Amino acid sequence: MLSVRNVHVNYGPIKALKGVSLDIRSNGITAIIGANGSGKTTLLHFISGLVTPEEGDLLYEGISIAAWPTEARVKHGIAHVMEGRRLFKDQTVYDNLLLAAHFRTPRLEKKTITNKMEQVFQRFPILESKKHQPAGTLSGGQQQLLIISAALLSAPKLLLLDEPSLGLAPVIIDEVYSFLQELKQAGMTIFISEQMAALALRIADYGYVLDRGAIVKSGDSAYLKALLASDDLSSIYLGKG
Ligand code: ATP
Repeated sequence: MLSVRNVHVNYGPIKALKGVSLDIRSNGITAIIGANGSGKTTLLHFISGLVTPEEGDLLYEGISIAAWPTEARVKHGIAHVMEGRRLFKDQTVYDNLLLAAHFRTPRLEKKTITNKMEQVFQRFPILESKKHQPAGTLSGGQQQLLIISAALLSAPKLLLLDEPSLGLAPVIIDEVYSFLQELKQAGMTIFISEQMAALALRIADYGYVLDRGAIVKSGDSAYLKALLASDDLSSIYLGKG
């Protein structure tokens, strides 16, 4: 579905990505794993059009979209859930969903939006019970589920998630991850960045290991899990999750 080709990104003298190439396949989960500072966020920002590369290309369903602005990528189905749970914390849960629906697909009919919001509330009754509360009053895990649900309102073709486990308690991480597993079973295409390799490899079909801006390993999750177990993927690169 999406191919990253030989991407170089510099921040002044810092070479954040040094010739990264990878493929995100349809209907499944691809993971990018690597230590803090390895370049995962930069890679997701490149895919969303939030950083300009020195060099490289991005093919989406076979066409180059490297020159497209972020809004065009969103409109064509690339939804990005950023690191750090960005919500309008003073707005209600309900309004956050409404804003997300309007921002991503301004021409959605009101009825369609209402139906989609109903689906979110059916899946997460806790969000329904708190729909009139400011989003900032939700727990970290509830905020993460809200933000992923908000991204799904536009029925994206590709969901990008930057460290969805960051700062969450293990039991909540399990909840977020089982939701991602559900989405995968429903046929969603997901690209996930994680520092905790074991966690990402639990649900990913295929993974890439990023180390200081370069892909150093790649393979299906069974292969990467075996490397992790054998310590070939040193804990210098990876949290063991
Ligand atoms: P994290 O887990 O902290 O998000 P990461 O793997 O996502 O790490 P990046 O955030 O992409 O890594 O950072 C890659 C490198 O680029 C790091 O050395 C980082 O310090 C540097 N970097 C990132 N953003 C900027 C910026 N805006 N200006 C300068 N350097 C940056």
